[in-house]
Amino acid sequence: MTFSDLGINPAIVQALEGNKIFKPTDIQLKTIPHILQHDEDLVAVAQTGTGKTAAFCLPILQKIDPNVGKIQALVLVPTRELGQQVAREFFLFSKYLSRIFAEAVYGGAPIEDQIQKLKRSTHVVVATPGRLIDLLERDAISLQDLKYLVLDEADEMINMGFKSEIDQILKYCKKDINKMLFTATMPADVKQLIREYLHPDFVEIRIHAEEFINQKIEHQYLIYKQGEKLDYLKAFLSEHKDQRGILFCRTKTAAKRLAKQLAGFEVTADALHGNLNQESRDKVMRGFKKGRINLLVATDIAARGIDVKELDYIIHYHLPEKTDQYTHRSGRTARAGKSGVSVCFVKSENLEEIKALESELNIQFTLLSVEPVTDAGLNTPITIYMNMGFAQSFTKNNIPEFLVEEAGLNAADIKNVVVEDSRSYFDVPANCEQQIFINLKGYKLFHRNLKLSLDAENSKRNIY
Ligand code: AMP
Repeated sequence: MTFSDLGINPAIVQALEGNKIFKPTDIQLKTIPHILQHDEDLVAVAQTGTGKTAAFCLPILQKIDPNVGKIQALVLVPTRELGQQVAREFFLFSKYLSRIFAEAVYGGAPIEDQIQKLKRSTHVVVATPGRLIDLLERDAISLQDLKYLVLDEADEMINMGFKSEIDQILKYCKKDINKMLFTATMPADVKQLIREYLHPDFVEIRIHAEEFINQKIEHQYLIYKQGEKLDYLKAFLSEHKDQRGILFCRTKTAAKRLAKQLAGFEVTADALHGNLNQESRDKVMRGFKKGRINLLVATDIAARGIDVKELDYIIHYHLPEKTDQYTHRSGRTARAGKSGVSVCFVKSENLEEIKALESELNIQFTLLSVEPVTDAGLNTPITIYMNMGFAQSFTKNNIPEFLVEEAGLNAADIKNVVVEDSRSYFDVPANCEQQIFINLKGYKLFHRNLKLSLDAENSKRNIY
């Protein structure tokens, strides 16, 4: 079965082929003919990585009237990254439909630019809920001619607390628009959303339960010992040196610290979390997409909607709090027909969490045995000169805190702290040395750069 067989017109097929997309995926096989031929509301249960974006994007592109320069289709998405990704697919696949235009609007970027862009003829808008409401309230956008509304990753939108925003947006739309809801999971509040807003005769399309979790993903778990988690991680990463992946943490602080703890190690890691501004996020994502960074240390929210092809692995450094989070996280690998591994870090006493994932998602985990990197080598004596001593209120206790926070060290690794009037000494394992130098190079305290060196006798380098 080809896209032409499904009724997709030659101009779109040409654009698909230009992007090396030749054969429809399961969800595309089911949704495309339906959306093309019917105006019934639709619920599609499909996770990221199954080709769900093209599943709605292609038939919508085909149904839009290019002669009506008004917004005819709106796609609501939970995050700006997903918004950019969806808009990109509209852009790529409309390459030979020269008169159809799509715009993405999302928070974290200047609203004025988006207002200007919306003044041009626009047929499709991809939006995050908060920014769209802002634009609606400023009369910068009109949904009066809207015909198609897609709620993409509806479960994530509800998880992120966007229900009231969705309610508000729907008040700006006509009652008879055609609604399509895409979701990876079907919790009670998504069912409620469907009851409230979709026509009672909506059609539900599911990819088979066994395909619900991408079959190309190999699920593994790794049992680590308390206090040695980082060593196990390093061992895993050593074995996946030339590969790319995402590591998930539960908190922003953990993501930030872990990225620092990996500084100077064999992989290039960077953190993606909610405290970064748009510019820094884009920079991290560019580095990751271009391959300058091979490990993204991310929180769940920050990583939503990320579409990076050819990810080899996903690490659940902290287990997900909910089952559907596991689906979302691991769905970042094994995309578009490729395979990938999804590895959970667990302590032996928490193995029942793996069992729960197995039974709820109908998947099988295998044990991954890894020898932790524990040979830390001899202690390396390090001196911080400067303005870092008693005179600046540093003490034996807060020096380790500073090093944990700013250099990403493990508190347990910092030994023999000695504080003098304006300098401090401490010992760390040899394999932390590079990490300290990388993270603290150029660090300013009281307007002066920290000056670090290995202990005087064997000092070969100084960093100013
Ligand atoms: P999605 O599930 O929408 O996040 O899509 C995952 C990735 O698969 C995107 O990079 C799409 O461009 C790509 N893709 C979509 N449809 C196909 C297809 N039929 N064959 C190969 N790749 C596809």
